[in-house]
Amino acid sequence: AADALGRVLAEAIVSTRTLPPADVSAMDGYALRAADAASARADAEVELAIAYEIAAGGGAPRALRPGEAARIFTGAPLPPGADAVVPQEEVSASAAAVRLRAPVAVGDSVRSAGEDVRVGDPVLAAGDVVGPAQLGMLAALGRSQVAVHRRPCVAILSGGDELVEPDGSIEGGRIVSSNSYTIAAQCREAGAEPTYLGIARDRPEALEALLRAGLHADVLVSSAGVSVGDHDYVRPVLEKLGCRLAFWGVHMKPGYPLVFGSFEPERGPLVFGLPGNPVSAMVTFELFVRPVLRKMSGRSAWFRPAVDAVLDEPLRKKPGRTHFVRVSLERRPDGFHARSTGNQSSGVLRSMVEAHGLLVFAAEASELAAGARVRVQVLDPALFEAAEPA
Ligand code: AMP
Ligand code: MG
Repeated sequence: AADALGRVLAEAIVSTRTLPPADVSAMDGYALRAADAASARADAEVELAIAYEIAAGGGAPRALRPGEAARIFTGAPLPPGADAVVPQEEVSASAAAVRLRAPVAVGDSVRSAGEDVRVGDPVLAAGDVVGPAQLGMLAALGRSQVAVHRRPCVAILSGGDELVEPDGSIEGGRIVSSNSYTIAAQCREAGAEPTYLGIARDRPEALEALLRAGLHADVLVSSAGVSVGDHDYVRPVLEKLGCRLAFWGVHMKPGYPLVFGSFEPERGPLVFGLPGNPVSAMVTFELFVRPVLRKMSGRSAWFRPAVDAVLDEPLRKKPGRTHFVRVSLERRPDGFHARSTGNQSSGVLRSMVEAHGLLVFAAEASELAAGARVRVQVLDPALFEAAEPA
């Protein structure tokens, strides 16, 4: 069950156990009958004889009789006859007897049987995400195995004659295929299992060979080669392989050239041809691929959380496309404030490095004034973490 962390339950969990299984002591102290302690006062102590001792995991040799107490430890079952526990700090005791200086109520310092769960209680639902508490509950219920949704497999490939792997030479204007890293990381973060197929050179046969290697996956993600350049072969090669292209060209910035297609069910993966520019690839992954992977993982919340923020500087654009402006967010007494992370060119990866989120700048709008209220999709969960305790 430990491997289920972060996965989504594919079955409902109904308790087959009562927890705690019996009334148990919540303290180290003395189990007794509350009625015996009813008259205890500081100036009129009540003395009870200690009949026996019960350790955690132990049991009582016999029922407690009136006038008796049992030495008991946290987690040990209450002996028959007892209905309360008095903590050892509140009494004076010898090996033979315990003296009470205050009354004790029925149920004091007792965890009653079933106060956590009872047989037949619905405890977890199909669709619940398994976190540490859910894992602990599964363990407590004796469920060492549990059915969860599997992680979708994503095959990733990059395309371009200019690309090298990170340890390759960048002489002669070559660049590192950073998309291979951002996309694989985004897959992992979304709960998917990425497989990296490598770099396809700008020849249709090379691209076809790598695309074929990814047809077994649930989702195939390529980057670059989807514009209208002479070496942009992704669309024609996908069609040749039998992929039905559902759309190409989305009225957004960054990310316009995004391609999406699919094969016949069971015959091949969903295919996302992301644009090559590093920011376009990341943003289109965020907006189109991530929700699909979350859905495939069994999650019901597919999208990032959004916050309202005050824009601290004016923004302008041409009307026509929705812009996803990379912004940093700062929490102030009056709420979040957003600022552009600078140069918003789709090749400037730093605009993502410094971003807490994506500001949605509506397609038809051309201007957002300083002070405007804006909506920001939060990419960085660290935004909600704190250096000081709350
Ligand atoms: P293309 O779609 O092939 O025209 O590529 C658009 C831009 O993205 C070019 O500047 C490429 O060098 C760049 N690019 C393409 N693939 C990658 C990649 N895997 N990593 C980083 N940049 C890339
Ligand atoms: Mg290219």
